Order: sequence, then structure tokens, then C-alpha cells
Amino acid sequence: MITFVGAGPGAEDLITVRGQNLLKEADLVIYAGSLVNPGLLSLCRKECRVYNSAEMTLEEVMEVMLDGEKKGQKIVRLHTGDPCIYGAIREQMDELDRHGISYEVCPGVSSFCGAAAALNAEYTLPGVSQSVVITRMAGRTPVPERESIASFAAHHATMVIFLSTGMLKELSAELIRGGYEPSAPASIVYKATWPEEKVLRCTVEKLAETAEAAGVKKTALIIVGEVLEGEYERSKLYDPSFTTEFRKGKTNE
Ligand code: SAH
Repeated sequence: MITFVGAGPGAEDLITVRGQNLLKEADLVIYAGSLVNPGLLSLCRKECRVYNSAEMTLEEVMEVMLDGEKKGQKIVRLHTGDPCIYGAIREQMDELDRHGISYEVCPGVSSFCGAAAALNAEYTLPGVSQSVVITRMAGRTPVPERESIASFAAHHATMVIFLSTGMLKELSAELIRGGYEPSAPASIVYKATWPEEKVLRCTVEKLAETAEAAGVKKTALIIVGEVLEGEYERSKLYDPSFTTEFRKGKTNE
């Protein structure tokens, strides 16, 4: 049996209880060594075979998985954050399907949630933004033009931008091209939830110089939007005058 497990954003105790149990029981673990906290591997049994996928191709990962499966082993494929975000799991699942091997997913805490925690932010504030755009700048992996940063920026919804710390000048230009004021609030969260976490608050136009001054070059998320500061409306859910399924609203007489 193969389980894709979300390792969480970094801190060792931010993996789920289920993910922790799967690691404790595993015979074979293939972990994404570039970002998964290696401390999590101390949960594994002494006999557990451990591979770092950062040094492997998809074919090599499959070879190891198929070998473990043949031996009837419990296999964990450990991905950073939650595997559904830039996790390259679909191509592994398709290969497993081709071989008639079943698998499951154990979700994890994505780094975009870890970053919100670091910022004490709510991404969906009434009267400000009710949507979160998770995206990236085009790199070696292209991004379709209809999903350009500028086109999303035009919505002024909260944006969480992955995999783009090396392109912050271009990112600022794209955000401004899409309609953000250069002075609109932005943040850089480096290694959210790790001990070395850094939270840098700045503006859309100052992303590159802020990152450079702090020596941040990778493993960061860029958060953009008015939810980072300023006015918002109170929620209806906790408004005394609002009736919900669970609570009757009080009228002011
Ligand atoms: N599946 C992962 C994302 C993998 S893509 C998730 O759900 O978080 C790798 C990118 O995620 C990095 O380049 C960086 O932009 C971001 N990232 C991953 N962990 C991070 C963390 N702890 N803090 C900030 N950014 C992180």
C-alpha cells in the first residue's frame, strides 16, 4: 500500500497524527528532501528504508515504489506541505494506476496556511477579499498566459505566490501591470513554521529589495493584498443581530 503524505510546512509537530502514524509504521519512505524537515524521519523504525527524492527521477521513484510494493511493504511518499499544491503527485498516481497499484493521500498543512499563521492573517476578510489565488511566476515550468500574475492581480483578491522568490522584480512589475498600487501591502514569509522563519512586511514595489536586505533567496511565499492591513467589515456569523442555524439573532429595540 502506498500513501502520499503531506509533511506539513516545516515544524516537525505540524504533520497530522495520521501522517505521523504512517511514518512510524512504514517499511519504506521516499521523502522530498529539498523541503521536508529531515527531523520527521526520526519517527521511522530502524529497519525502514529511506530515499531522498530530490536526487531521483520519476522513473527512479517508481522503481523503488514498485519494488517495495512487490515485497508487500508499507510505503510512504512524503511531500512537503500538502501534496495537492505543486506536489507532482498526479504523474506518480498515473504510473501507479498503470501498474494496478492502489494508493491513498493523507493531507498536510500547506505552507500557505503556515504563512498565514506567521502573519496572524486572515486571507478572506469581509469587505476586502473573499478569494485566495494560489499561483506562481512562470519559471522552467510555464504558466498559461490566461493565468498571468497581472490577470489575477486585476481582481484584487488575496494572492499567495509560490516558487517565485528568485523573480521578485518581475513579480512586482506584473502585480503593478495588473492594477496593484506600488504601495499596496505585501509580505514575504521565509520558511514558515521552521525555527529560522522570517516574516517581512513591505509593499508591492519593495519585494525584491526587502528580500535582498534579509538575505531571502528561496523557500518563501509572497502574500499580496489589502487583507494584510487596513479596514474590513465584521463577520455576519458572529454579529449579534444575525440569525444562524445555531443561534437566534437579537434585535435592537
Ligand atoms: N506542497 C507544498 C508546496 C511545494 S512547492 C505546500 O503545500 O506548501 C515549493 C514552494 O513552496 C517553495 O518554493 C516555496 O515557495 C513554498 N514553500 C514550501 N514550504 C514553505 C515554507 N515553510 N515557508 C514558505 N514557503 C514555503
